[in-house]
Amino acid sequence: IEALLDIEKQNQLSSENRELEISLIAQVLAYFKMKLRKVDMPRSVKYGEDKSDDLDAYPQPPPDPKDCKRRSPVVTIMGHVDHGKTTLLDALRHSQIVESEFGGITQHIGAFSVKLPNADARITFLDTPGHAAFASMRQRGANATDIVVLVVAADDGVKEQTIESIRYAKNAQVPILVAVNKCDKPTANPEIAKRGLLEHDVVVEEYGGEVMAVNVSALKKTNLTALQEAIVTQAELMNLKGTWQGASEGLIIESKATLGKGKQSTLLVQRGTVRRGSVLVAGASYCKVRSLNDEHGRNVPEAGPSTPVEVTGWRGELPSAGEYVIQVENENRAQQVVAYRESKLKELKAEEELGAISEQRAAQRQEYQQLVRMKLAAGVRRKGRFTTEVRRVSEHTVNTDPKVALLLKGDVDGSVEAIMEVIDTYKSDRCRLEVVDFGVGPPTEVDIANAAEFGAIIYCFNLPVPGAIKKLADEKKVTIIHFNIIYRLIEHLKGALTAQLPAVK
Ligand code: GDP
Repeated sequence: IEALLDIEKQNQLSSENRELEISLIAQVLAYFKMKLRKVDMPRSVKYGEDKSDDLDAYPQPPPDPKDCKRRSPVVTIMGHVDHGKTTLLDALRHSQIVESEFGGITQHIGAFSVKLPNADARITFLDTPGHAAFASMRQRGANATDIVVLVVAADDGVKEQTIESIRYAKNAQVPILVAVNKCDKPTANPEIAKRGLLEHDVVVEEYGGEVMAVNVSALKKTNLTALQEAIVTQAELMNLKGTWQGASEGLIIESKATLGKGKQSTLLVQRGTVRRGSVLVAGASYCKVRSLNDEHGRNVPEAGPSTPVEVTGWRGELPSAGEYVIQVENENRAQQVVAYRESKLKELKAEEELGAISEQRAAQRQEYQQLVRMKLAAGVRRKGRFTTEVRRVSEHTVNTDPKVALLLKGDVDGSVEAIMEVIDTYKSDRCRLEVVDFGVGPPTEVDIANAAEFGAIIYCFNLPVPGAIKKLADEKKVTIIHFNIIYRLIEHLKGALTAQLPAVK
């Protein structure tokens, strides 16, 4: 502080002194900041904590293992086109219809559950066309699937989408189980299919690996029980558990609006138990559960972990596939969460739009600068002058942060030229002088807009400035400075440049 006072007393504002002054101020500030941090900023305090986040609903921390019980595996069938995924799913679903006392028609709700003939175990199959839901869930980092059943046709072997499916499963860290399909075909060669998988690091048990493989025929429905048993064995190895207690969570498998039932979506419950009257939020939608139905169209009283269930009662927009579902206390809370999420979405959208606008503006700016350069270059050609200035403006990519932008208007060609000539002699690596535009005649609305855009000072020489333009300049916070003597104008410009200098390191 004493050193600062010294400088003040000397009142010598050489640029050297100013730089010293700045560095001293910086040191003093740093000292106080350090002191402040020591005194009032314990490490534990988090700054910028956004309390408004309390308005949202979040997944719960993992449940206590002692509250958890075994749950059924959730399986996705993947593989190359035409290798028999749909046929296999139909066969599995059909086996269930024959089994069930309902005997009726299963409805497509995006998932179905199968009970094994001679065991207690169940398997939930996701039945989503094109795996769209699976993909969107992956994008959200949510795993709906415990096991991927990779269908490989025994007469066709490993193909492009087989490889893609392997990559998918590996990225999601989901174990693969191989169903070698179409084994009924005379041309079938299961060994070639299995060997093909080796190349992609899917090593089946026969080859000393850990991946189970079952030869099946989806068309003839052979060996399907063995496939299901393999799935259950894999699930047991994984020791899949879940809790039926506490607030429910899950994932939207698919959504649709039908004439009779209105808005409904299939939910795969992952935690807790969903009942009639449960209040759920998913994305920016919420639901007071009016009814729960299974894939047979039966009304069910409740649905726990690994159970797919169709729920009705959605308000507003239908949630999209892959959306995370969280149960909240009541409808008020749901409305609050939805309103908060909607406002967040709006903000995001507005930000995106702003981003687009600023990009557009940047492009316009560039285009405009190009025009100015051309104008300057034309001036050079015509009059053989302003060479340095043209170069400097066109080199404006040079990495000098401090700059002074100016827009020059003069009464006659001669005065503008004279001023430009002086400006042309300005050379510095430390501060860039940018001529945004120059010309004859009083500043116009366009000049004000350009000056505002580029942060330029408007220098007027020997010109009246119309009142309306003055007002506009005030509104746009553009400075217009008027001079009658060239020397004064240049002095002012020098001052503006010098003012930028201390910021240079
Ligand atoms: P996706 O594209 O993987 O869903 O394959 P699809 O299930 O639509 O089956 C493609 C074709 O292969 C259809 O003509 C099926 O009838 C046939 N297909 C599926 N599974 C078998 C099978 O196990 N054996 C034979 N021979 N044909 C099958």
